Amino acid sequence: MKQEQLYEGKAKKVFATDDPTLCIVSYKDDATAFNGLKKGTIAGKGVVNNRMTNMMMQLLEKKGIPTHFVKELSDRETLVKKVSIVPLEVIVRNVSAGSFSKRYGVEEGIPFDEPTVEFSYKNDELGDPLLNTYHALALHLATKEEISLIEDYAFRVNDVLKEYFLTLGVKLIDFKLEFGKLPDGTIVLADEISPDTCRFWDAKTGEKLDKDRFRRDMGGVEDAYREIFKRVSAN
Ligand code: ADP
Ligand code: UDP
Repeated sequence: MKQEQLYEGKAKKVFATDDPTLCIVSYKDDATAFNGLKKGTIAGKGVVNNRMTNMMMQLLEKKGIPTHFVKELSDRETLVKKVSIVPLEVIVRNVSAGSFSKRYGVEEGIPFDEPTVEFSYKNDELGDPLLNTYHALALHLATKEEISLIEDYAFRVNDVLKEYFLTLGVKLIDFKLEFGKLPDGTIVLADEISPDTCRFWDAKTGEKLDKDRFRRDMGGVEDAYREIFKRVSAN
C-alpha cells in the first residue's frame, strides 16, 4: 500500500499510496527550532505526536470540524486524505508567550480577554513571515472565503481543545494549525496537533509540557512529551 516518498519535512515524511487521494504520514523523532537552526532528537516524539494528533483530529471531527484523518496505521504512521496545503500557518493564542511576547514586549503568561488569530506565510526560505489577510489575498495564498472559513475553524478548534485540555489539568496557551484543500476545494484541517505545535502549561504548577523545553534547553524534554501523552491517553 505504501508507495514512494513524496516529501521529507523536518518532523515527518509523506508517502504516496495506491490511492491517489490518500497519503501516509510518518512521524520522526527529529526536532528542529528557530527555522531549522537548532536540530536534535526527542526519543519517542514521533509516536507521541502521531497518536496524539490522531486523537485530537477524531475529537475535532466529532465536533464538526472536517479533518484529513483517515486511519492510524501504526505507532508512527497514519493514513490521511492528501490535500494541497494552504501555505498559511494559522496561530491561535489564549495567553501571551513566545514570539507574541517578544514582538510586543510583554511578559509571558498574560491571559487574553479573547483569543487571537494570526497568519504566517508558510515559506521556510523566508522564515515564515507574519502576514495579514490583505497580504495573503495579494499573494493569492487563499481566497477571502477560504480565509474566513479557516479563521472560523481555527477559533472552533480552540474552543474544543481549550476545554478538553483543561479537563486534563493543562492550559492551552497557543498553537499552530495548517489547513489543506481536497480535490473538490473543500477545506480540511491537516498536519498535526502535538507538543511540537502547541504550548501546554500544567494548570497548577505552570510547568511546560511542550517543545519549549527543547527550544529553550530546559531539560526534561522526553518526560514532558510522555506526561502530556499520558494525560490524553488516560482520558
Ligand atoms: P515541514 O514541511 O514544515 O518541515 P513536516 O516535517 O511536518 O513539516 O512535514 C510534513 C509536511 O506534510 C508539511 O509540509 C505539511 O504541510 C504536509 N502535510 C500535512 N498534512 C498533509 C496532507 N494531508 N496532505 C499533504 N501534505 C500534508
Ligand atoms: N508554531 C509551530 N510552528 C511554527 C511556529 C509556531 O508549530 O513554525 C507553534 C508553536 O509551537 C506555538 C505557537 O505556534 O505553540 C506560537 O508560536 P510563536 O509564534 O510564539 O513562535 P515561537 O515562539 O515558537 O518562535
